[in-house]
Amino acid sequence: MRVLEANQVTKIYGDTKSENSTKALNGVDFKVDEGEFVAIMGPSGSGKSTLVSILSGITEPTTGSVVISGKRIDQMNRFDMALFRRRSLGFVFQEFNLLDSLTVKENIILPMVLDKKDSAIMNSKAAEVLKLFEIENIADKYPYEISGGQQQRAAVCRSLVNDPVMIFADEPTGNLDSKSANAVMNCFKMMNEEKNATILMVTHDVFAASFCKKVIFIKDGKICLEVANKGTRKEF
Ligand code: ADP
Ligand code: ADP
Repeated sequence: MRVLEANQVTKIYGDTKSENSTKALNGVDFKVDEGEFVAIMGPSGSGKSTLVSILSGITEPTTGSVVISGKRIDQMNRFDMALFRRRSLGFVFQEFNLLDSLTVKENIILPMVLDKKDSAIMNSKAAEVLKLFEIENIADKYPYEISGGQQQRAAVCRSLVNDPVMIFADEPTGNLDSKSANAVMNCFKMMNEEKNATILMVTHDVFAASFCKKVIFIKDGKICLEVANKGTRKEF
């Protein structure tokens, strides 16, 4: 099933008529199906962050369309978009973005609290993900009491609790040593394999990308290469 489809997306920063404007994306077509685990790689300034922020509804494209779960997100107003992001999408950032005054478990259930879910549902869901990612032992600890790797695993847990149609991760291993990066990438892999989560990740990290089923390379605002780990290769 198709989860995301972007057609001919362009992004120009600044006044389009001015010489100072930057063409960050130049006609990107992009599709993601349910259960895919995709990495986007490319040199700094190639447009990765811009692409992911457009695909996840944070930034508006200059032209082109983005459809997630059959909805044109580029045409949604800010309010509907914020609600759609909270209800239907999961996010993991380079900074772990946990609230310091909440325990790990409270951080994990926060998206469900905001969605006014029943407390029995929240507790059983929290117990399920804490067990799946083997972090039950830190459930009652505060973020400042645990390692960066544990914080990021909690953030990955949190991205999953609302059963999002898709999870976006921006450099999720960027602040981690290699052992913690391995643990975090194994969480994503498990989420993808056991929960059939659909994941799109931006990374500079070849090690992190090696966990993904497909890698897309972007250069000068265009997709130039797509490789699947079953060996298929498409050049553009
Ligand atoms: P990457 O994530 O691959 O490093 P970006 O999407 O951040 O690439 O940037 C692509 C291009 O767009 C770069 O030339 C960058 O300087 C420019 N750019 C990104 N964000 C903005 C912005 N908010 N305003 C102006 N230019 C931007
Ligand atoms: P990263 O590639 O790690 O995401 P960037 O340096 O591309 O980091 O971007 C960091 C932030 O700065 C982003 O929000 C991006 O949109 C913004 N940004 C990047 N380049 C520019 C630019 N030339 N002018 C204004 N904002 C920019």
